Amino acid sequence: MSDTGDSDIGQGTRLVTAGRRKEWTRGIVNPPVWRASTILYDSIADMRANATRDTHHRLFYGRRGTPTQWALADALTEMEPGAEATFLYPSGVAAISAALLSVLSPGDELLLPDSAYEPTTSFANGMLKRFGITTRVYDPMIGAGIAELIGENTRAIFLESPGSLTFEVQDIPAIVAVAKERGLVTLLDNTWATPLLFPAIARGVDFSILACTKYIVGHSDVMLGSVTTTKEHWHQLRSTSFQLGQTVGPDDAWLGSRGLRTMGVRLKQHGESALRIAKWLKEQPEVARVLHPALDDCPGSEFFHRDFAGASGLFSIVLNDCSDDQRAAMIDSLRLFGIGFSWGGFESLAIPIDPDKLRKVVPWKAQGPAVRLHIGLEDPDDLIADLEQGLRCCRPNR
Ligand SMILES: *Cc1c(COP(=O)(O)O)cnc(C)c1O
Repeated sequence: MSDTGDSDIGQGTRLVTAGRRKEWTRGIVNPPVWRASTILYDSIADMRANATRDTHHRLFYGRRGTPTQWALADALTEMEPGAEATFLYPSGVAAISAALLSVLSPGDELLLPDSAYEPTTSFANGMLKRFGITTRVYDPMIGAGIAELIGENTRAIFLESPGSLTFEVQDIPAIVAVAKERGLVTLLDNTWATPLLFPAIARGVDFSILACTKYIVGHSDVMLGSVTTTKEHWHQLRSTSFQLGQTVGPDDAWLGSRGLRTMGVRLKQHGESALRIAKWLKEQPEVARVLHPALDDCPGSEFFHRDFAGASGLFSIVLNDCSDDQRAAMIDSLRLFGIGFSWGGFESLAIPIDPDKLRKVVPWKAQGPAVRLHIGLEDPDDLIADLEQGLRCCRPNR
């Protein structure tokens, strides 16, 4: 199995081969679990020599990882052509905060889309603010118009595409072009698409951030995050993350690597089933809008068709005018959709969403209450039947 950096293999092939260096696997198919805190040296001279060397991919101390974590980090790097390396974190939120802390200093300003994942906004309004870093929230559909928001202290542009809950697809190439011209750093929360459907680094983004908790792990049983970046930013990201004491348990990293191997087929099925169900939902009288990046109800769907290799399984629907109780009754009545946070596992989920409570610059206007759906790997016909009976709760005459 190669130390592959081959640029001529497909992303599906890469998912299978990535990170499986012989020196780490010893020929075992899946990189094994190496648990460690202390690493023993042969002598004091050996210990001292190690302390002065670059410890990247060298056994040094458990916090710096073992081949188990390196294999996953490397695999994620290989999934982002043009990237230098990847750092792993114990959650997606930890990945987002470390990436931002590696870039920003007191006095800097961050541009953040109004559709950002809520904990990202909380981090900006909380810790970043406390450290003297200001945040300016922008309309996710701003595109090249972002140039007008850039001030003397603007240092970085955060992107999330499609946006959390409401799925606005951003014009990433236009924003990246402005950022490059103005010398700003770009960071993308790439959790929805994963590098499989949107290779962010190859498209000029500086930091590709994943909540691996979602599709990389894929089985709703591990918390994990990652940041993949370029040569220019890697050193700063790594030293910031070391200073923060970030590390990931080998068992979690191993489950991440295991999930990654099947992500291609899983995403294909999530994407196919979700699009089919989204199109069916669009025809239902109880549904006002379907916010699925591939459908024109969704702002920026033209950018989705231009830039993405496909869709994953998460989208939202806006119901026609009905009460909060009717929405709750609808979700409660679903038999195959669980009620729970997160997504990206093999199972379907439904939660009520209230974007109006989060918006800062683009007020949320909708005909009725909204619901976010994650379409799992169940048979789509069964999911449609379940939604069909559930939607009856939203009819006006009830
Ligand atoms: C879930 C999620 C995160 C955070 O990941 P955790 O592993 O739950 O911390 C970040 N970004 C997006 C878009 C998410 O959906």
